[in-house]
Amino acid sequence: MNGRDRPRIAISCGDPNGIGLEVVFKALTATQRSVDSSGADFEATDFDVALFAPEDVVRRHLAALGLNRPVFELFPDEFESGYETQFGEITGRAGRFSMHSFESAVAYCLEGHADAIVTAPISKESINLAGYQRPGHTEYLAAAAGATTHAMMMVDNNFRVALVTTHIPVSAISGASGLLTQDLIMDKLETLIHALRQDFGILDPRIAVLGLNPHAGEGGHLGTEETMMISPAIQQSGKRSGLEIDGPFPADAFFGMRRQEGFDGVLAMYHDQGLIPFKALSFETGVNYTAGLSIVRTSPDHGTAFDIAGQNKASSASMEAAIMLACDIVRNRASQIN
Ligand SMILES: [Zn+2]
Repeated sequence: MNGRDRPRIAISCGDPNGIGLEVVFKALTATQRSVDSSGADFEATDFDVALFAPEDVVRRHLAALGLNRPVFELFPDEFESGYETQFGEITGRAGRFSMHSFESAVAYCLEGHADAIVTAPISKESINLAGYQRPGHTEYLAAAAGATTHAMMMVDNNFRVALVTTHIPVSAISGASGLLTQDLIMDKLETLIHALRQDFGILDPRIAVLGLNPHAGEGGHLGTEETMMISPAIQQSGKRSGLEIDGPFPADAFFGMRRQEGFDGVLAMYHDQGLIPFKALSFETGVNYTAGLSIVRTSPDHGTAFDIAGQNKASSASMEAAIMLACDIVRNRASQIN
């Protein structure tokens, strides 16, 4: 933790017209302890927060939502002054604002002032209107941190799902020009193994790999990705890591039989294969974690929720879990260095 005695978490505020600041304020209040009877004075229990937002926007959100101000250090630089919050609106100005918050928080982390970044949700539409070309947070972070490989992971306590392919059309997953290859599966498997060891402190993780086709290909009758690439990837990565990796499992019955409870991590081949069961089982408390980066980054697993923005209706459970997971990973990484 860079000489600090507790984790310091940088938080980007997400789209200022969405529920980002609301869930940040609520999550901090829920995790901070009041130290005097008036409730006016708070102390963070065991982490510090750097929030990247301007003072006037913070005040306007607290007033509109009727929330008390939790404890954080504010970093208002780089923002244009006089931002008018328009709850629920998709605008280029909001997109620019959310990217300023995110980029400043990333730079702050890369300079070593914070140990982790927690990102509140942005709107891809808003940031596109603002002229940004990159598809989202994860791709930007991977480039900024100089990562050659990373893996999207969803985490809810001991339930962890990582994805081989993420935000691409289904038609681009497999087939002649598909993204799915033995190398890519091995790459994600090894990123998952490394994250389970380094970030979650599990030295001999148990890992399950799902098939791609119905019934995991039924011995080649329902598709050949299992025999051509998934099984060879499992074998080779198993050899390299010294771990026994299980699979490929037919994906349909896996979660229904609660097989995930016997594993520390599950590798899914594509977005919905992993995220449908994950969100069905862990909708409010799931956290999105980007494995394989030098920067620790977590985020809640929901979007900007423009339809309920500014109404004090949003649940902060996922944001709370995202902050707590970031702190845990920072401590796990630090304990391996010392
Ligand atoms: Zn997604």
